[in-house]
Amino acid sequence: MTLAELLPSIGCSTEPVLEEGLWPDGTRLDGADLVIGGVPATQLAARFGTPCQVLDERTVRSRARAFLRALPDAEVVFADKSLPCPEVYRWMAAEGLSLDVSSAGEVALARAAGFPAWRIVLHGNVKTSEDLKAALEHGVSRIVVDSFDEIAQLGSLARHGQEVMIRVTPGVDAHTHAAIATGVEDQKFGFSLASGAALEEILRVVEQPSLRLAGLHCHIGSQVRHVASYEETVRRMVGLIASCGVRIEQLDRGGGFCAPYLPGESSFDLFGFSQRVLGVLHYECAVHRVPVPRLLVEPGRSIVANAGVTLYRVCAVKRGVTRTFVAVDGGMSDNPRPALYGAKYAVRLVGRGGKLRSATVVGRHCEAGDVLAEDVLLPSDVHSGDLLAVPVTGAYHHALASNYNQVCRPPVVAVRDGVARPIARRETEEDLLRRHV
Ligand SMILES: *Cc1c(COP(=O)(O)O)cnc(C)c1O
Repeated sequence: MTLAELLPSIGCSTEPVLEEGLWPDGTRLDGADLVIGGVPATQLAARFGTPCQVLDERTVRSRARAFLRALPDAEVVFADKSLPCPEVYRWMAAEGLSLDVSSAGEVALARAAGFPAWRIVLHGNVKTSEDLKAALEHGVSRIVVDSFDEIAQLGSLARHGQEVMIRVTPGVDAHTHAAIATGVEDQKFGFSLASGAALEEILRVVEQPSLRLAGLHCHIGSQVRHVASYEETVRRMVGLIASCGVRIEQLDRGGGFCAPYLPGESSFDLFGFSQRVLGVLHYECAVHRVPVPRLLVEPGRSIVANAGVTLYRVCAVKRGVTRTFVAVDGGMSDNPRPALYGAKYAVRLVGRGGKLRSATVVGRHCEAGDVLAEDVLLPSDVHSGDLLAVPVTGAYHHALASNYNQVCRPPVVAVRDGVARPIARRETEEDLLRRHV
């Protein structure tokens, strides 16, 4: 259902109401202003400029804690690629989470944050020798291997007893966008369970004197809504554990827990997940008579997505033949997700109300696909200088940002209890020039 179709069901109200479940915890309206983490959005925009990525610290921490509460015996590993930022890693460390990194660059950020190496996992479908060396040098606790070449390379680089996990492709369809489905057969991630490659790989790692097999790993994709996909994955993974005849101590179930992006979408049922997945794990292990491995989960998006709000300034309004285009001072450089995956967003105007009308919010970049949100409701007199707020921008925004058109990347501003502070500053033209000769 589009927002325009939803309009009658909310009574054509021009009174500002906050969409439920999308905004950071405790976000409220103060008149027409939007207060995030105790700080009015109009103040944030005036002080830090726009576009500005606002991140509510309390929401991040409370989502991290929710995972620990739902899975008290599991290791909860924050997938740092969703929001690579040393300050956020420090929050995760303080809350008792581990960290998932996927490159030498992410190792460097984790190192800068002082994240304990014994709680860092390195994964990724391709790791260069620089990635592996950086991880080994920092002493990361586990490396998830994803190819024959990598095992050979790691075998010669690693010190004695480096713990590894094997990335398995369980052949489970997560029912998500093809660009973020990683559990099905015949894509670039992991060793196939069905073809026997995963089993072969387990035996190969066991034979490597410098490596120690710590466990098996799988990740079926992102924005996964169905707990059934996770249950089926665990069932297949335990089958593999039983058939390999090797003691497997850890089973990493990956991440992918969905976050709501539009009004009416529900949050991931974490409690249902823990009940059902732990149930299947214990049942299948009993049936196959294998010890129950320790479960690991790797949430990224579901911890940070709804903690983020991006603020934009309207630069121009164009009336097309059938549509109104509202052009803002950001776009695909700070949010390429609509262009990459057809991602959809809600948008609200901050600072005043008015009769609502459907509009398309577009970015400033030289691409027709640079559209941030189609068919959203904004006051019909929306004009340049207006402030727009887009919720659910905490995950894969800062991470995927580029400086296309040499637009400087926005800052990340953390808010908490009425205090705002940048945890990543805005990129400057000096930063842009620094790399050029
Ligand atoms: C990307 C990724 C995650 C996190 O996915 P989310 O959808 O952000 O939860 C976890 N594990 C692995 C291996 C990944 O590649």
